[in-house]
Amino acid sequence: MTVVLIQPTRPQVPEPQARPEALDAASRADMATALAEALECGLVRAVYQPKINLRDMALTGVEALARWDSPVFGTVPPDVFIPLAEQFGLIENLTAQILEHALATCGRLRLHVPELTVAVNISPLLLHGDRLVALIDAALIKSGMPPECLVAEITESRAIDNETAARIALSELRKRGIGCAIDDFGTGHASLLSLLRMPFNELKIDRAFISRMHTDEAGAIIRATLNLAREMRLHVVAEGIETEGTETLLRDLGCTTGQGYRYGHPEQIETLLASLKSRMH
Ligand code: C2E
Ligand code: CA
Ligand code: CA
Repeated sequence: MTVVLIQPTRPQVPEPQARPEALDAASRADMATALAEALECGLVRAVYQPKINLRDMALTGVEALARWDSPVFGTVPPDVFIPLAEQFGLIENLTAQILEHALATCGRLRLHVPELTVAVNISPLLLHGDRLVALIDAALIKSGMPPECLVAEITESRAIDNETAARIALSELRKRGIGCAIDDFGTGHASLLSLLRMPFNELKIDRAFISRMHTDEAGAIIRATLNLAREMRLHVVAEGIETEGTETLLRDLGCTTGQGYRYGHPEQIETLLASLKSRMH
C-alpha cells in the first residue's frame, strides 16, 4: 500500500521566540530549572515531520522534533532549549523521552505505512560513552519495535569531542540495523572528515543550501553533495523543501527523499494520523 502525501499543510502561526542571546547566566539557570521540571512531568513533547519519496511522493518516514511550552517562558524553541539541556545535564533524559514517544509513534504509523522509519535527533554529547547504545537498546526492547525502524540523526552543530567513542557508538547502532544520519551536512564541523571516520549511511543536506538552490553556488554544492553521496552509497535527504521548483530540481538531480513545509509542518501524531487516514479514503 502506498500512502501519498502531496498537499502542503496550512501555514502555522509563528511561535514566540525566546532569543538565546537575550538570556543572561541567571535566566539560563532559571530556564534550565523549569526545563528539568517539565521533563520530570513529561511536558516536553514530540512533534513529527514527514519525509517523502520524491519519485512517487509516498510517505517513507518521520522526524521527531522536541517542543516545550513553558507556563513561565512561553513556547521555547528547540534552538534555545536543546543547548540548555546539553549545558545542564538534561539531554540524556530529554532524548530518552523523545525516543520512547518516537518508537511508540512509529508503531502507530506502521499500521498504515509498514516500512516507515522514525528519526530522532541525537546530540553529539551523547556519543561519549556507551550510554547512548544502552538507552536505545532499552527503548527498543520496551517498545517492541525493530531496530531498522529507527534513524539516529547526529547534528554537526558542535564538534564531536571524542571521535573514537563516537565511532564505536555509531558502529554499534549500525550493527543493530539502526540508521545513522549526518544532519545539517555542510554547515558544521568537519563534515567530510566525519563522513570519512564515522559509519554514517544517510546524509541530510541542510536547508541553508536547499533554500538557495536557484543560485549557481548552492546548486553546485548540492550537485556535488549528491554525487558524493552516490559514490559513498549514502541515502540522501534534502531538508527544508518549500516550493515545487525546488522539489523538481532535486528530483531531476536524483535526490530520493525530501522533507520540508511543502509536505507538512512538524505536527502532533494525532494530526498526522488524521491526515494520513483522510488521504486513504
Ligand atoms: P533539524 O534537526 O535540522 O530539524 C529541522 C528543523 O527545520 C526543524 O526546526 C523544522 O521545524 C525546520 N523545518 C523543517 N522544514 C522546514 C522548511 O521547509 N522551512 C523552514 N524554514 N524550516 C523547516 P525545529 O523543530 O525548530 O528544530 C531545530 C533544531 O533543534 C533541529 O534542527 C535539531 O537540531 C534540534 N532538535 C529538535 N528536537 C531535538 C531533539 O529531540 N534532540 C536534539 N538533540 N535536538 C533536537
Ligand atoms: Ca534533524
Ligand atoms: Ca537542519
